[in-house]
Amino acid sequence: MIQLENICKQYTNHNHTVRAVDNVSFFVAPNERVGIAGGSGSGKSTLLRLIAMLEKPTSGTLRLFGEDISQIQNHTEVYRSLQMMFQNPLAVIPPRMNLEAFLLEPYINYGLMDVAAAKDDIRKWMQRVDLPENTVNKYPHEVSGGQLQRVVLARIMLMNPKLVLFDEPTSALDAVNQKLVLDLLQKIYTEQPFGYVFVSHDIGLLQAITDRIIVMKDGQIVETIESKRLKEAVHPYTQALVEASV
Ligand code: ADP
Ligand code: MG
Repeated sequence: MIQLENICKQYTNHNHTVRAVDNVSFFVAPNERVGIAGGSGSGKSTLLRLIAMLEKPTSGTLRLFGEDISQIQNHTEVYRSLQMMFQNPLAVIPPRMNLEAFLLEPYINYGLMDVAAAKDDIRKWMQRVDLPENTVNKYPHEVSGGQLQRVVLARIMLMNPKLVLFDEPTSALDAVNQKLVLDLLQKIYTEQPFGYVFVSHDIGLLQAITDRIIVMKDGQIVETIESKRLKEAVHPYTQALVEASV
């Protein structure tokens, strides 16, 4: 579903070059759940932005749904199939848009349903993410961060994406809300499977919600391990992340 071959991304500021992503290769199979662990500055967010086509790699080949991204003709279908969720929901939801208008956007943009059917569907999605239906009449500043992330999750999943990229979507939440969002994610995954790449500095969190974990340090992959075998990790950096997480 995703295939990266020797992907590099360099940034140059004031004659200083940073290799944010340094020769990274991996794949994600359909409906596979992959975690990317690593400390801050290890290149996790850059890697997700490259996969989301928000930035172009300096070198290397990226295939999405079997197509080399430099050859993709029709981006609309790829944009619907590939969604991304970030840490801060307020950066994603316009402050003067009520949540129903925010949730209606994808139905309209991708012609999924007419507005009346979409409004019904939105009500169903509020139930699926355990929010009262009238939440949709509110503005972003009127609901909590944890509730907003559930609205954002609903907006992503109602598009029935094939692949979702998560960049620390629960890092700004308290432990209770973090668990709520992660439990919902797993419930939705079971009902409506999709592939995902979940980035976190917390490798213990990743172990609970992924099949495989890729560990990054200084832009490079240092180890890839099945999540259930995390205890058997051999790289000292992976072991340090495991210790930091418990
Ligand atoms: P992480 O998400 O793991 O914390 P990032 O991908 O944000 O790591 O950053 C990796 C490295 O690339 C860091 O050294 C960071 O400073 C640098 N970097 C990221 N984005 C940019 C950018 N737009 N311009 C210059 N340097 C960047
Ligand atoms: Mg980051």
